[in-house]
Amino acid sequence: MKIAFIGLGNMGAPMAANLAAVGHDVVGFDQADVSVDGVTMATTGAKAASEAEAVITMLPNGQILRAVADEIIPAMAHGTVLIDCSTVDVDSARSVAQQALDAGLLAVDAPVSGGIGGAAAGTLTFMAGGSDTAFAKAAPLFDIMGQKAVHCGEAGAGQAAKICNNMILGVTMIATCEAFALADKLGLDRQKMFDVVSTSSGYSWTMNAYCPAPGVGPRSPADNGYQPGFAAELMLKDLRLSQQAADSADADTPMGQAATALYEKFVETEGGLGKDFSAMLPRFEERNRS
Ligand code: NAD
Repeated sequence: MKIAFIGLGNMGAPMAANLAAVGHDVVGFDQADVSVDGVTMATTGAKAASEAEAVITMLPNGQILRAVADEIIPAMAHGTVLIDCSTVDVDSARSVAQQALDAGLLAVDAPVSGGIGGAAAGTLTFMAGGSDTAFAKAAPLFDIMGQKAVHCGEAGAGQAAKICNNMILGVTMIATCEAFALADKLGLDRQKMFDVVSTSSGYSWTMNAYCPAPGVGPRSPADNGYQPGFAAELMLKDLRLSQQAADSADADTPMGQAATALYEKFVETEGGLGKDFSAMLPRFEERNRS
């Protein structure tokens, strides 16, 4: 299959390389000067998109996605599919999908979870929104780049699933970290805390699989000086998208709102930038109640 891949950064480059590695003809474009194993580079996004049966985008945000869509959609052939794997706001995802449909294309919003490691290993999870026909066309590509793809509903449903999941993740990480900090002050051993919580009703993915306490639980970024992993600023991006969506859907999300404010402070003024999002634990450790 002839595939165009636009946005070859930390995530896009290994995803494109995996498609090329199984024999697809991949043409890439990025505004930065990059090269990717097995991928032929084009001089513009429109040139890359013009001969492709599928165009995949992996870009930083909704504004950039809209600008790229304006350029590539007119260049794409009727009946081909536009698959956006970036994490963007639901409104941008829906608007780009509509623009693609109006131009006679198929469209899927398909943000991912699994991070850079998952992109390199081809083990991402895709959360997809779009028609059955569009999803069916994209599914074989998801199978190469990932291990699981869930068709969540119509356009925007993939982004909706992603930000709801990550809102839970951000809130839960904070709850897990503040509970560890409280346990410390109560003189409770961290290993004992893990042994109890990980098998009791307070258990969660953040406690059981990604424990923020160094030396406790399975190996995680906490055991590597809080090098990301999943950086705090990326968590902040997703939390902000959740609050943007909550505003436009008129949903009451007080915990999501509190988590957004806390990660904002952590990233912007408390040295959290560039650290894993589980570095909330040392942040709480250093503080007291007032
Ligand atoms: P990145 O910044 O490494 O890559 C983005 C790429 O897009 C860059 O190479 C940049 O040069 C390129 N780009 C920007 N504007 C462009 C334009 N107008 N035309 C062509 N190329 C352009 O970011 P990333 O970490 O690869 O993340 C990409 C997306 O995936 C984001 O939406 C992010 O939220 C999401 N995501 C990232 C992770 C992660 O762990 N990094 C995990 C899940 C989802």
